[in-house]
Amino acid sequence: MRFEFATAARIVLGAGTLAELGPLAPTFGRHALVVTGRDPARAARLLELLAQAAVTATILPIAHEPTLDDIARAVAAARAAGCDCAIGFGGGSALDAAKAIAGLLTNDGELLDYLEVVGRARPLAHPGAPCIAIPTTAGTGSEVTRNSVLASPAHRLKVSLRSPYLLPRLALVDPELTYDLPPAVTASTGLDALTQLIEPYVCTRANPLTDGLCAEGIRRAARSLRVACDDGHHASAREDLAVASLFGGLALANAGLGAVHGFASPIGGMFAAPHGAICAALLPHVTAANLAALRARAPGSPALARYDEVARLLTGRATATADDAVPWLHDLVAAVRIPRLSTYGIAHADFSAIAAAAANASSMKSNPIAFTPAELTAILERAL
Ligand SMILES: [Zn+2]
Repeated sequence: MRFEFATAARIVLGAGTLAELGPLAPTFGRHALVVTGRDPARAARLLELLAQAAVTATILPIAHEPTLDDIARAVAAARAAGCDCAIGFGGGSALDAAKAIAGLLTNDGELLDYLEVVGRARPLAHPGAPCIAIPTTAGTGSEVTRNSVLASPAHRLKVSLRSPYLLPRLALVDPELTYDLPPAVTASTGLDALTQLIEPYVCTRANPLTDGLCAEGIRRAARSLRVACDDGHHASAREDLAVASLFGGLALANAGLGAVHGFASPIGGMFAAPHGAICAALLPHVTAANLAALRARAPGSPALARYDEVARLLTGRATATADDAVPWLHDLVAAVRIPRLSTYGIAHADFSAIAAAAANASSMKSNPIAFTPAELTAILERAL
């Protein structure tokens, strides 16, 4: 056994903890670049806390998943304004943008120098500017991961800027910030979180530390996802989802993912579909395909016993076995109204390009079994 575990320098989770930003913010810097989602008005309370703490704020709304151009422009603007720290306040897009901008603020050269796949993949040479990550959805766990997912529309690709220096200095997780999310966003982001707990648990790089996080996270997501979709202000359900999302981020950053995320990366680059919704639409089908392929080609794989445990955690029944996980996931996806992949314009003609790109995606490499091209296509067919 060999594993390592790295995460944000400090994690604070709890209802109302946003208020703690006031005293903490000045210890990170005097002039913050505040990256928000589409509507910066949602950050009004955050901006008030910064003003009371005499921290200057330069606001940058990000309306979509950040592109390479967005980041390059934001870094130039943050340098010109004299920002010495970054705060991400929003969903995964705002957090990923803040992490990338903070990382580049202290490193010379251009973004492409440091990007994998489309760039020169040089490691960041210096620690980034201090970054505070405050999620307002419960899904990506980006507040504790070391990569930023960026879109390259020219390549129809999503690529990662990746470095231990991108880990935020502070992850501030306040479940109250998710109370007013609409049910559809709660559903898709919550199912992303659940996927990010199941995939690291059954993946080839699972370790005892991430196993514990995954088991606890799956239990909480399973009991609270429907509740939070039905009643956004249900405090304990929102808290469960915030914990599940955080634990998913901790697990994926230190173990790995699997085929759902292997598909989600190229699909997200090629189509305008929210990451969580793609993962949600694929999760039951990938689970069924993994079980079938493991039984056919690797019946001794420890992943099969892990799927039995996943089924027990999802259903809450001590006698459940792996086969109970698939109908349970189908029922959940139907109950919270996850759209099918065809909703986003994906068609049969796209299958070969998606399957080819998915086969080479980094997440696919830690899936418990390697899928054949025919199996990859069959998964897309069922999720279409
Ligand atoms: Zn995900």
